Amino acid sequence: MGLDLEFARRQRVERSVFPEQDRLVEHCAVFGVYNKISPAAPLIYIGLSSLQHRGQETSGIATHTGSHFATKKGDGLVSQLYTKDDISQLSGSIGIGHNRYATVGGLDDHAQPVTTEKHLVTLAHNGTLPQTHLLETFLTSHNVAVDGLNDSEMMQRVLEYHMGNGHSIEDAIIQSYSLFTGAFSVVIATEDKLIGLKDRFGIRPLALGETTEGFVLSSETCGIDAVNGHFLREVRPGEMVVIDANGVKSTQLAQGEEKLDIFELVYFARPDSILYGRQVADVRREMGKELAKERKIEADIVIAVPNSAIPAAAGYAEASGIRYEPGALIKDSYTHRTFINPSPEERIAHIRRKFTPISLVLAGKKVIVIDDSIVRGPTSKELVHMLRNNGASKVHFISASPPVKYPDFYGIATPTQQELIASYKTHEEIREYIGADSLQYLSYEGLIKATGLPEEKFNTSCFTGRYPIDIGEHARRINFSV
Ligand code: 5GP
Ligand code: MG
Repeated sequence: MGLDLEFARRQRVERSVFPEQDRLVEHCAVFGVYNKISPAAPLIYIGLSSLQHRGQETSGIATHTGSHFATKKGDGLVSQLYTKDDISQLSGSIGIGHNRYATVGGLDDHAQPVTTEKHLVTLAHNGTLPQTHLLETFLTSHNVAVDGLNDSEMMQRVLEYHMGNGHSIEDAIIQSYSLFTGAFSVVIATEDKLIGLKDRFGIRPLALGETTEGFVLSSETCGIDAVNGHFLREVRPGEMVVIDANGVKSTQLAQGEEKLDIFELVYFARPDSILYGRQVADVRREMGKELAKERKIEADIVIAVPNSAIPAAAGYAEASGIRYEPGALIKDSYTHRTFINPSPEERIAHIRRKFTPISLVLAGKKVIVIDDSIVRGPTSKELVHMLRNNGASKVHFISASPPVKYPDFYGIATPTQQELIASYKTHEEIREYIGADSLQYLSYEGLIKATGLPEEKFNTSCFTGRYPIDIGEHARRINFSV
């Protein structure tokens, strides 16, 4: 895996000092298919491909063949992992899939779906439970070993326990729901049902779609489009949807409160997906327009750090009247994962391979470069350096979201607070570090305005430090006055 040893060692130390951290932090994709007759796997494969941006580390598909679950999981991209034979061997018309994106790669094997043969239930999870002591206590007191299990595996074991005592999968979920303390958008397959489940704040998205043959559940609506389905609605916070031969049945398991992670709009979600009734690209464009209102800069061209910042840069250009130049920075589509890489050196090498500045376009220009966010800082620093080296006479860096000051505990990969540059450097120090002529961020108010929705509709913890779901012991390690 080429894992940097020092990094691995630090991770282990960190994990043993903070035992509750001993879980993989994941931001992932889930996809589920309920077909009447046709095989589910080809659709799951297409769905997972379209959700590749949510996780590139491992992938897995499990289908119910009629007698048992067939599973294929492993490392790598969807297009590399599955052969044609794999897909045809994954027979059966009900199944689920998962792409995983973990901060700690190669140290554990927690590829999903998590399957059990005993009670024919398999589960795939997007999100993280920052606290698992309720699950642990329950399992231990019922003589189920929890050693080495991650949060998703524990959820699955609890369901299995109840089913072993004669409960239906729905009853098992109802019985266990209060033990699931965290962020989860989960899909579950049994021999004759597909189930979707969300935490009571709906931190991660999960959408329900209809196809000519049945129904699909997808982390984002782009997955429903990819299989030619029709987007019906988001699964609601606190809701369980059960899909079987009778159609879709909805049960509210807890009083729900919508608090979608605002970072889905800033970075994670694909631009064509619909969240809260709006296309993500449209919201990002609004962020760019808000920026142009807030931060007026004199420049020749506006460019985007591809791909996530393209809509924001286009919006900025539209509102400011400064020309958007699409051909100044090219992204190599075949380089993945610059964000989480073993060592800082490797990360920088990756950034250089990933972006190519075009000097012909940049030479002598005063450039505004827009990225969706600044997290640790190296990406912006390297980009500013590359733009200058390729002839830009001025480089003004803008982040289309506010400073990221607080870590995430709900299933995305933002690092510990100590690594977040805005938590330990002032605005001017960050500008100096990245080497830009000026540095601007979209204001928090501007971000909320761009969404067109009230702030209460979102989990904004990475910007505000306000965590809607209790993060327990983690809170002790956070400096809330940065
Ligand atoms: P930095 O070098 O500041 O740590 O990373 C900033 C870059 O990472 C931005 O270009 C942003 O698009 C991207 N980014 C922000 N959050 C994530 C994430 O969770 N995963 C990945 N892959 N990229 C991210
Ligand atoms: Mg980026």
